[in-house]
Amino acid sequence: MLKGKTAVITGGSRGIGAAICKKFAENGANIALLYAGNTQRAEETKAALLGIGVKAEAYQCNVADAAQVADVCKQIIADFGGADILVNNAGITKDKLVPMMKIPDFDSVVDTNLKGAFYMIKQLYPVFMKQKSGKIINISSVSGLMGNPGQTNYAASKAGLIGLTKSVAKELASRNVCCNAIAPGFVATDMTENLSENNALKDHIPMKRFGTPEDVAKLALFLASDQSDYITGEVIRIDGGLAM
Ligand code: NDP
Repeated sequence: MLKGKTAVITGGSRGIGAAICKKFAENGANIALLYAGNTQRAEETKAALLGIGVKAEAYQCNVADAAQVADVCKQIIADFGGADILVNNAGITKDKLVPMMKIPDFDSVVDTNLKGAFYMIKQLYPVFMKQKSGKIINISSVSGLMGNPGQTNYAASKAGLIGLTKSVAKELASRNVCCNAIAPGFVATDMTENLSENNALKDHIPMKRFGTPEDVAKLALFLASDQSDYITGEVIRIDGGLAM
């Protein structure tokens, strides 16, 4: 489905990002993955991708740092000769109720989850515009749709991603570039590992289970492929019915 395409995936070292890397590679895409600091996990994912038989490279880059993002995107274009798909998946949580939330913790979550996506899009926008094709996928969250106590920073960043998605979609639609958002509910990864045994939480989910990274990766594949060529500015929930 993605044979010969180059996909740039932030937060590709583990969790949902690693599953998207593998799913895209299994469908023929070459992969440039970005990660923050977990070199061991990044190298493991890269090795798995090489094992699938595609070109793959891992780049350490803090997406919250605009200069690092600019440098790494230039390097990726030089290494891969272009880019066709961008998945803004890197994300963090720093949960606290408002009175306890420190201002730097509000800022760093917005800087990583929202501004990081903007920095990546800013670098690859001219590439997609010139080639008159491209797929941008932003990983939002149902928190950005519903709000969540303890997550003012996270929910604001994820709601912001939805506005960013729709604006970019409108800017680039005439250039045949699609920009969509995925809003997962609870997905079993390192981010949610202390919640995974919480049965009361699962009871709130109509499908009574957490999602898997693979569930999200299948949706990302659809949005990255030509199966979704007439879909842009859309936000697709993947949450077992949680936010219905
Ligand atoms: P994980 O915590 O498992 O992985 C986070 C990934 O993001 C890692 O690859 C990490 O790199 C990378 N990362 C974090 N900060 C930065 C940064 N500043 N610069 C570059 N890379 C960074 O998260 P998940 O897989 O669970 O989540 C992936 C995305 O999905 C996030 O945006 C998250 O908000 C969203 N999401 C997750 C849900 C869930 O239930 N898990 C639900 C809804 C949305 P490294 O390995 O180097 O630390």
